[in-house]
Amino acid sequence: MATLFEAWQGVQGRIGAACTACARNVAEISLLAVSKTFPAAAVRELYTLGQRSFGENYAQELQQKHAELADCSDLNWHFIGPLQSNKTRIVAECASWVHTVDRVKIAERLSQQRPEHLPPLNVCLQVNVSGETSKSGVQRAELLGLAQAVQTLPRLQLRGLMCIPEATDDEVKLAKQFQLLKQCQATLAEYGIELDTLSMGMSSDLEIAIANGTTLVRVGSAIFGARHYPKQEQE
Ligand SMILES: *Cc1c(COP(=O)(O)O)cnc(C)c1O
Repeated sequence: MATLFEAWQGVQGRIGAACTACARNVAEISLLAVSKTFPAAAVRELYTLGQRSFGENYAQELQQKHAELADCSDLNWHFIGPLQSNKTRIVAECASWVHTVDRVKIAERLSQQRPEHLPPLNVCLQVNVSGETSKSGVQRAELLGLAQAVQTLPRLQLRGLMCIPEATDDEVKLAKQFQLLKQCQATLAEYGIELDTLSMGMSSDLEIAIANGTTLVRVGSAIFGARHYPKQEQE
């Protein structure tokens, strides 16, 4: 079995090769290590190797690891899970980024609850690019209104867009859905809303995301191994 270091290096190698294949500069791509369900010790090990940004899906798990790793001063937590109103305070206090804002009410709570001593919370708006009605994420037709509302909130910094495409192996479908997110970024720019981050691509599809304009890939299992869900919190 590969060590954590080897797996992490392997993912960086995949990112490098994918950038070479489409003539992008590897410095444009950030690697978010998705540590959900893995212990704080694994996060600490990867932090010691030089990884700085980690992603969590469950508010309580974020809160716990944030406390356990409080001594890792420049470690950044990104919240990438579904966000309920009763969990916004934890995220506002523990995270430096949240990728899954898809309605104004949640954004308003995050802004109100962001502690004064911390810089504004970086926000990506989650967009439903698959058209599946069961998926979270704002509909594309409602994105501009949401972006304009989030921009007025004093303790949030609107940075980008995020998507989770349909669960499929069809690379053409995946590419189309990633392209839709990139188009959303271009449309917002026409309205004067310039965003520097596209959060798209995971362990299985990061190459397709890189070919289609991602700036941040969220990679869990390819770094930490297969996940088991013994302590998934009840929302
Ligand atoms: C779990 C998760 C990931 C990481 O998925 P892997 O397939 O393990 O890389 C990325 N993004 C989100 C939103 C997730 O929930």
